[in-house]
Amino acid sequence: MTVQSKKRIYPVSGMKKILFFLVLLTSIGSLAAQPKPTPTNDTPEFIDHFYTNVRDYIRIPDIPGYLTLKCDLHIHSAYSDGSVWPSVRVDEAWSEGLDAIAITEHIEYRPNNQNGLLQGDHNQAYRIAKAQGDRMGILVIPGGEISRYKPLGHLNAFFLQDANALNVQDSLKAIDIAIRQGAFIMWNHPGWPDRQVTMYEEHEKLLREHKIHGIELINGPEYHPRAIAWCREYDLAYLCGSDAHGLIVTKYGTARMPRPMTLVFAKERSIEGLKEAMFARRTAVVFHDLLIGPAQYLGALVKASLRSTPVSRDESRKISTLDILNDSDISFKTVVNELPVILHAGRITRITLPDSQTELEFTNCLITENEFLSMPVSFLQGN
Ligand code: ZN
Repeated sequence: MTVQSKKRIYPVSGMKKILFFLVLLTSIGSLAAQPKPTPTNDTPEFIDHFYTNVRDYIRIPDIPGYLTLKCDLHIHSAYSDGSVWPSVRVDEAWSEGLDAIAITEHIEYRPNNQNGLLQGDHNQAYRIAKAQGDRMGILVIPGGEISRYKPLGHLNAFFLQDANALNVQDSLKAIDIAIRQGAFIMWNHPGWPDRQVTMYEEHEKLLREHKIHGIELINGPEYHPRAIAWCREYDLAYLCGSDAHGLIVTKYGTARMPRPMTLVFAKERSIEGLKEAMFARRTAVVFHDLLIGPAQYLGALVKASLRSTPVSRDESRKISTLDILNDSDISFKTVVNELPVILHAGRITRITLPDSQTELEFTNCLITENEFLSMPVSFLQGN
């Protein structure tokens, strides 16, 4: 049996020509990217391997008078029970676009230190991360996690001078030592491990003595809405953290802004700036388009994110049509003319606003457990 091959010549259309050139350009690009040996170097490098030096740009605006610093205030490394080296924590934070991280190793629980395997004391993880932070431009807060059973539970101490000093039997004494070092104390994951957000006598006493300064409303995927009211009641900072033990990507995936972030409204981008702002309770929490914080800061963020342009006006029906640009990475949910509207991140949404509506409620912005941020519609006119 013979096989006849038939050659067919197809007319090359304009579109195919364009495709052909695109393919050609792509192949030239990849050829050019191949490193070439030279007479003295048979081991050239792929120069484009520096693609790792790409950092996400998080669009969450500054607010009047303050920088909006994006922070993760709860992180572990191989120096307690995590699986990641401290410097990798900084690299992760840099590529995700964060400004600051806190290193908060368990003080009392160091399973990776069996038979003294870990080199260094309770400050070592911070030292390693700080050195990398200085190289990468990431602020690293020295900290530690006082890790006890309920009723006290876990508390992060930030801005420590020496985490070793907290390694004492009496948990209240450990807190006192941290306070004497000028630490800011966060009550961590109040719903852990029994899923009950309970304030015990121990916490009431510490709050009375002003030894707890903030509370972790979101810890990894766990959300503690019951605790939001305590922020107002006890003048606590609204905080959150990833509590990452492994790689962020394995816990939260590859999306932008993957982990819960604490926004700290600071006068300057420095450790001192963070400390001053946290003690002044200028913080908010953001995760998956949910914002939780004091009305004044959430309002300022909304105002700084949204810009409105008038499109048209129907005087007879008393309605105005507006284009709302959301120049942030947080999609805001609101209600216009009694209908839910999403002001999508980075996009323009056209709304038709009746004169009768004088307030805009933002249903992704919580100021207490059940209360949303409400803004007078007039703020749009000023933007
Ligand atoms: Zn932890």
